[in-house]
Amino acid sequence: MYDLKAIIIGGGIGGLTTGIALKQAGYEIEIYDRVREFRPAGAGISLWSNGIKVLNSLGLAEEMIKIGGRMNRMEYRSHQDTLFNAIDLHPLIAQVGQRPYPVSRTELQALLLQTVGEENVTLNCNCVSVAEDENGVTASFEDGRTTRGDLLIAADGIHSMIRPLVTGESSEPRYAGYVNWNGIVEAEAQEIDPDCWVIYVGEGKRASLMPIGGERFYFFFGCPMEKGTGVTPENRQQELADIFRGWANPVQTLIQTLNPLATNRLEIHDLNPLKTLVKGRIALLGDAGHATTPTLGQGGCQAMEDAAVLCRYLITTNISVADALKRYEVARKTRTAELVLKARKRTDTIYGKDMMVTRNWYDSLSQESASDVINALAKVILGGPFN
Ligand SMILES: Cc1cc2nc3c(=O)[nH]c(=O)nc-3n(C[C@H](O)[C@H](O)[C@H](O)COP(=O)(O)OP(=O)(O)OC[C@H]3O[C@@H](n4cnc5c(N)ncnc54)[C@H](O)[C@@H]3O)c2cc1C
Repeated sequence: MYDLKAIIIGGGIGGLTTGIALKQAGYEIEIYDRVREFRPAGAGISLWSNGIKVLNSLGLAEEMIKIGGRMNRMEYRSHQDTLFNAIDLHPLIAQVGQRPYPVSRTELQALLLQTVGEENVTLNCNCVSVAEDENGVTASFEDGRTTRGDLLIAADGIHSMIRPLVTGESSEPRYAGYVNWNGIVEAEAQEIDPDCWVIYVGEGKRASLMPIGGERFYFFFGCPMEKGTGVTPENRQQELADIFRGWANPVQTLIQTLNPLATNRLEIHDLNPLKTLVKGRIALLGDAGHATTPTLGQGGCQAMEDAAVLCRYLITTNISVADALKRYEVARKTRTAELVLKARKRTDTIYGKDMMVTRNWYDSLSQESASDVINALAKVILGGPFN
């Protein structure tokens, strides 16, 4: 179909990537976000090869090389620094045809925004209702504005306002039982090889450093906690020092060198798989449709895959918008649901939901062969639209 106008609610990774894809397909696009200014939640993000392939298909390959970290190896270590396994990632790159790129979220967001064109993005626009009829769909905003298009993409995140309209039921995010801290540090100050993604695990907790562009590491910590704990930014360094007391020296160095005021602290949630992702001319995309815990590093990558698949059906089929969206749903529902549930299971294992299972997992890490790890990563990556 040609000459369509798409309204996109939400200017996160999902909304912006979809905007780029649809704009490049020749469609008119309007992206709306309720924030006054974009401030990505989280410091870094690991974009696995399936996400990067989508960005490559949109012409962003060179830019990703510039902002991406050269992650050549990964290591699992015990919290007391025993090496469980060390994996060369080059065989993975050879198998799937593209390197993964961990990046700074701010740099990714700036790249996507610049590519989609800032003139296509309206901020400070809180969508409060969406209504469709035979000929189109209308979005209304808090300030009284309205806009109309042939289709509407709800890329409005895990707390999506549009989701109940699409699914016909309320589906509240589920607390995954742990808190994540994340930020960025200079590589020079760390005790880790600059091309290595290292993950320390123990006591049902995790600490990790991942190389991003500009000789920096994206770091994250995770620890199981009751819902509703809050610690002010200035106390976050001490909080981490207490939680990770006795852990390996590189973890202590990381805690001492991070900037607590620039360290995010998030309670992690996901979403039970939904019965449907579309209704007529309206499609849920990204976290609005399938928010996941970040333990597979796939939430943002899945939003990018959504964008590519949605665009492909719109431009290659010619029955109706609703028909193209239905095909998008068929292509995406199982893939995303499986990854949400897989990530949830892994989250439970990492964060000691049953410590017996977690201890067995620690034991199994040193038994795992490099090819098992590579094949597991490749399977997730090659399950995407560009395999
Ligand atoms: C700690 C953490 C680590 C992660 N690590 C990774 C990783 O390594 N790799 C990976 O691929 N993924 C990762 N993810 C997941 C990834 O961040 C998300 O899947 C991705 O950002 C979702 O993008 P989105 O565009 O769907 O939603 P969002 O980024 O949430 O964007 C939604 C946008 O919609 C706007 N909005 C909401 N409601 C309205 C409204 N009513 N009107 C207008 N605008 C509205 C919001 O302001 C927001 O800008 C991680 C997530 C977390 C929390």
